[in-house]
Amino acid sequence: MAVNEQLVQDIVKEVMAKMQLSGNTSAKQTGIFTDMNEAIAAAKKAQAVLKRMSMDQREKIISNIRKKTMENAETLARMGVEETGMGNVPHKILKHQLLAEKTPGTEDITTTAWSGDRGLTLIEMGPFGVIGAITPCTNPSETILCNSIGMIAGGNTVVFNPHPAAIKTSNFAVSLVNEASVEAGGPENIAVSLVKPTLDSSNIMMKHKDIPLIAATGGPGVVTAVLSSGKRGIGAGAGNPPALVDETADIRKAAQDIVNGCTFDNNLPCIAEKEIVAVDSVADELMYYMTTEQGCYLASKEEQDKLTATVLTAKGLNRKCVGRDARTLLGMIGVNVSSNIRCIVFEGAKEHPLISEELMMPILGVVRAKDFDDAVEQAVWLEHGNRHSAHIHSKNIDHITKYAKAIDTAILVKNAPSYAALGFGGEGFCTFTIASRTGEGLTSASTFTKRRRCVMSDSLCIR
Ligand code: NAD
Repeated sequence: MAVNEQLVQDIVKEVMAKMQLSGNTSAKQTGIFTDMNEAIAAAKKAQAVLKRMSMDQREKIISNIRKKTMENAETLARMGVEETGMGNVPHKILKHQLLAEKTPGTEDITTTAWSGDRGLTLIEMGPFGVIGAITPCTNPSETILCNSIGMIAGGNTVVFNPHPAAIKTSNFAVSLVNEASVEAGGPENIAVSLVKPTLDSSNIMMKHKDIPLIAATGGPGVVTAVLSSGKRGIGAGAGNPPALVDETADIRKAAQDIVNGCTFDNNLPCIAEKEIVAVDSVADELMYYMTTEQGCYLASKEEQDKLTATVLTAKGLNRKCVGRDARTLLGMIGVNVSSNIRCIVFEGAKEHPLISEELMMPILGVVRAKDFDDAVEQAVWLEHGNRHSAHIHSKNIDHITKYAKAIDTAILVKNAPSYAALGFGGEGFCTFTIASRTGEGLTSASTFTKRRRCVMSDSLCIR
């Protein structure tokens, strides 16, 4: 699935033309509890039913989740933007369509076999049981639906403790998963959530005896909390992905790819380009194409200072700026620009706060490097050891290899926008939980299973 601007513009027009939401968000929601212990008990009961069902029945539930995600993509996108104020509707529609089509289901659960004179041994991937999942406000329903598909495909049920700032959208997604399950002959409460999730409810979940695995998608705080819980944890944490551009790149295309990736859903995806490191000999040309052809606004020193003061507060990121578009951000510092402006650019040192911080908004600082080795060194510094995502525009395979080894990230996109890593205009499956910190990388159904060895001694080898 390729993202092109024309397609996005068409969707914008279509969405804006429709004044009513296509789905019924006020219908009775299922799987939403007021008490975490009750939610876990309900998900446990549902898992007892799910584990007796066949793989084929599991797959039917998953197909129905995909169908409902497609049918409600616009509603979910609009709810997410309205509730959080972050991102944009057309891109969020695409994200929901992508996850519905490309998140792996039961086909991801494979068996390994050894057969020989001493019999037959299998490694089979079994469910953990009830998984606790903590989800972000930046991709709320995307993460819930994607996690649900993978976790249910693995034979688990799931208890969500979503981000409170996106609770309506998150709980609507949880409700869709339950509807999909019941309609396909599965149990109620295959996914559950809370009316009011809090840090306390999250702590109850993390300590609960019936939760053997926790999957946390969010910033560094939540991943550290999960890894300190004493339970097995999958930690999908923060990133600050640099896009490196060397002297062999197609500079015009690099400018287009980087700005397309950076501005997708107003830079909310954790994998999106957050800054550029360009070698000196091509930095000016790159900036030229970004400003003349890609709708980038070149911020002056004074404007950079005003943006820094607006976007970053003493307590960290100003949440009112996260996921906003470039025009809105510029409007906040008194700069009015035309509607074709989609990104803010400037040149600065890697230590510039708008460059070194993970901003999640379309502001792209360009760091100049004296040569390729210097560019790699600066990009590695900027990634802050998150080992999450990085991107490169180069036609030199030695350079690409050197960068890949040095930066050591779960994702490395070459010569394409960052969203190719999610399966948009790139091969491979989709996920919205990239376990950078704990090393599972891009999660899928098999990540949410445990390996079991099943041995038949001296029989069943029929070779
Ligand atoms: P966030 O860390 O503020 O919140 C994420 C979730 O964690 C929320 O449900 C929140 O309530 C919970 N939480 C936060 N601190 C907690 C604590 N100490 N104990 C228990 N729960 C806690 O993040 P956000 O603003 O919602 O999302 C943006 C961040 O998430 C960015 O840093 C982004 O890079 C990261 N992210 C990572 C991935 C990935 O796959 N690696 C995907 C999406 C977002």
